[in-house]
Amino acid sequence: MLVNTPEHRALRKRVESYLDGEADPGLAVAVRRHLAACWACSVDAEWLALIKSALVRTGTSRPSELLLARTKRYGSTLQGRQ
Ligand SMILES: [Zn+2]
Repeated sequence: MLVNTPEHRALRKRVESYLDGEADPGLAVAVRRHLAACWACSVDAEWLALIKSALVRTGTSRPSELLLARTKRYGSTLQGRQ
């Protein structure tokens, strides 16, 4: 678990860019390494991947604000169970 480390704080906001294929090679390596070690970010990555996959299937380009809020709240609940 790497939550509240400088690495976690720096890479957590980059996970979505990595999943979208927008990270440069160096960042991609760092994010992959971090996801392998950080439970919180790996859960976020799984959720983001599921949401993006669902959006592709439905043809929606962006999740609703309600879905985003619910997903973030659920993720926070999961992190509180550590
Ligand atoms: Zn992390």
